[in-house]
Amino acid sequence: MATRFEVVVYGDTEASLRAAGEEALNEIQRIEAQLSLYRPDSEVAHLNARAAHEWVRVSPEVFRLLDQAAELSAQTEGAFDITVAPLVRCWGFMGGTGQRPGPEAIEQARQSVGMGLVELHSENSAVRFRRPGVMLDFGAIGKGYAIDKAAELLREEGITSAIIHGGTSTAFAIGRPPDQRVWKIAIEAPPQTENAQPKPIAVVELHDEALSVSAAWGKSFVSGGKTFGHIIDPRTGYPADNADLAAVVLSSATETDALSTALLTAGAAGQEIITRLRPNVRSLVMKLSPSGIPEVQTRSIQLL
Ligand code: AMP
Ligand code: MG
Repeated sequence: MATRFEVVVYGDTEASLRAAGEEALNEIQRIEAQLSLYRPDSEVAHLNARAAHEWVRVSPEVFRLLDQAAELSAQTEGAFDITVAPLVRCWGFMGGTGQRPGPEAIEQARQSVGMGLVELHSENSAVRFRRPGVMLDFGAIGKGYAIDKAAELLREEGITSAIIHGGTSTAFAIGRPPDQRVWKIAIEAPPQTENAQPKPIAVVELHDEALSVSAAWGKSFVSGGKTFGHIIDPRTGYPADNADLAAVVLSSATETDALSTALLTAGAAGQEIITRLRPNVRSLVMKLSPSGIPEVQTRSIQLL
């Protein structure tokens, strides 16, 4: 995940708050060590290296998350798909800042993408890939999952007021801040020019809820006057261009993380899908018009 995580906790005794906060951050590190593609000793790296050759057993925890990712992939009609990794690599975003591949390379990567290429054996917590080249990337769901687990730990420690965020893209709010009704988090639009400051477009109120924001900017490159970002549409093989920013609010950070990525990929049409899935979802999709004017569609989020 290679992201900076932050935990803010409120309560009466500093020592116990500090201990709970540290425990939460340790939990996030433990999960990152399981899921990171980039650590050769992670469960996911091992899976990616071996599962095309044999059934690979994973921990029940990783198996459950894999199963949930498969379900979210089906529910979002493939807009969210952790098998997108060969395309992420092909577009130069695996450890890099991106580069434009040739059409043959994209076509070849697409052959190894699709949840249908992953077999899950639930009794043994075992996984097998149906062909070589398949690779899993938990980059769009792992952060949310880690934050859910950290929040669970804080609650077990009796914390009733806290906020956790990872890379400012997923946040979970427990309870409310002291003397306030709810937690408030701003969603910022991409800066219009290189030196401009990002501008808030909405403020989201959270109470025992998670917010995730996905955006192409930040990790993208420009080629032929067009911006290509790190979120790839697994169905086309090309960087998503139906939206420039997507935000989702629900009570599970695992779900908001996956669904904000799905929404960025599918754009406004994705809003219909996720509202059908989770009728109480709050969401926002922003697309810049060719002349740079933001067009925003929201569900239960007020724009500033
Ligand atoms: P996020 O910032 O949560 O939207 O996650 C983006 C990251 O997830 C990317 O940097 C890729 O590693 C990976 N990814 C890219 N496209 C997709 C997709 N369509 N579905 C799932 N993961 C993706
Ligand atoms: Mg995500």
